[in-house]
Amino acid sequence: MSRIFSGIQPSGSLHIGNYLGAVKNWAELQHKYESFFCIVDYHAITVPYEPADLRARTADMALGLLAAGLDPSKCTLFVQSMVPEHTELAWIFNTLTPLGELERQTQFKEKASKEQSVPAGLLNYPVLQAADILLYRAELVPVGEDQLQHLELSREIARKWNTRFDPPKQAYFPEPKGLLTPARRIMGLDGQAKMSKSLGNTVELLEDPKSIWEKLKPAVTDPKRVRRTDPGTPEVCNIYHLHKAFSPTETVDHVAVQCRSAGWGCIDCKKVLHESMEKELIPIRARAAEIAANPAKMKKDLAAGADHARAVASGTMKEVKEKMGLA
Ligand code: SF4
Repeated sequence: MSRIFSGIQPSGSLHIGNYLGAVKNWAELQHKYESFFCIVDYHAITVPYEPADLRARTADMALGLLAAGLDPSKCTLFVQSMVPEHTELAWIFNTLTPLGELERQTQFKEKASKEQSVPAGLLNYPVLQAADILLYRAELVPVGEDQLQHLELSREIARKWNTRFDPPKQAYFPEPKGLLTPARRIMGLDGQAKMSKSLGNTVELLEDPKSIWEKLKPAVTDPKRVRRTDPGTPEVCNIYHLHKAFSPTETVDHVAVQCRSAGWGCIDCKKVLHESMEKELIPIRARAAEIAANPAKMKKDLAAGADHARAVASGTMKEVKEKMGLA
């Protein structure tokens, strides 16, 4: 069984963009692959933060992931800082990674341009990401298209280390390949940018139905549908794309017909979307309530995940250190 690794930032509660863009897919992949899913809190400290807030966001993220369908009996779910080997391997990879490569990373350039003083951790972020993946010698990484550049760097680091320290086979670390997530990019309700907490355009995975409806009502649709009688173009409308994520195929086809013929107004269309969303979100909310009622069980599951991750990680580090002449 091939091994996969993927990480998610402890950004607090999941929104439907995280869910459709990554986590829903993870819940399916855990049945097909030996899966390691990690809440990457070491990555989260590369920008300013409050310790108590980080702890709460990490717990909320764990709860969301479990509610969304990650099953600790099927996958290894853990928090990065509970497995210190991540930073140990990252240091080793730092000694092999050219500075120029890191400075060229698009995400670094974007983030650094917003900071007055740029911490080295922000620059070295993709090296830690390479360590996250290669520590488990994962062959596949479920990613969105925007993460492919970082993955390429992980492949390069694996090649470099293998060439230098694993002769003659040069294959200790597999070069991880991207497993592109089918649902890809989910736009926010403003229809302008990717769904993101910082932009305030999200629907939370555990949000109550009334509040979801209050957000859907004013959500941006086809801007050319000014009057109820104007025919629309579903492909340019974010509500149609959300239908594709939540509604059955027959409903999606029906939406397209009703939109193009102005048979439905946008509010009719949003009501049907809301119903489809509820079908998927009701069981997730129920699971979340169960998990929240038993925090000790969640803590135990995360500790067991970290124990298993650490066992694999320490095996890798033992071999890496032997090959590198380290104690
Ligand atoms: S009818 Fe539906 S798909 Fe068409 S523009 Fe309105 S909300 Fe979008």
